[in-house]
Amino acid sequence: MMNDLRFIPGDTVWILWQKPDNKTAPCPFCGGECYAYATGENEETVQIPCPKCKGEGELTISSKWKREVELRILDRVQLAVGVPPVYFVGNRWCYDDPDHGVDQLFGTEAEAQAAAEKWNAEQKED
Ligand SMILES: [Zn+2]
Repeated sequence: MMNDLRFIPGDTVWILWQKPDNKTAPCPFCGGECYAYATGENEETVQIPCPKCKGEGELTISSKWKREVELRILDRVQLAVGVPPVYFVGNRWCYDDPDHGVDQLFGTEAEAQAAAEKWNAEQKED
């Protein structure tokens, strides 16, 4: 079913982008130092990258997604028979439809913020 074309190129739109929202914590094995000590072949002590965090110093303790609102100018609309219009901002695309795709656009900031807050409040951490 074809949705109404509510926006055209040049319109100012508020876009709900989905972004990763991961929490990290210092590695419990190396304490965030990124390295550990090991016994070498000749019984010497050698420093190696921490095997727990792989030398990163931190571990991802929860991963989830959040949606953020951004004010943008609509660049392009792509129409195809039988599917909703696809709106482009730069090379990213979004839909004027909450049930189609994760990135969505709105005509007012209030609508976009309300949708972002509602969606973010429903997310559970892994
Ligand atoms: Zn570590």
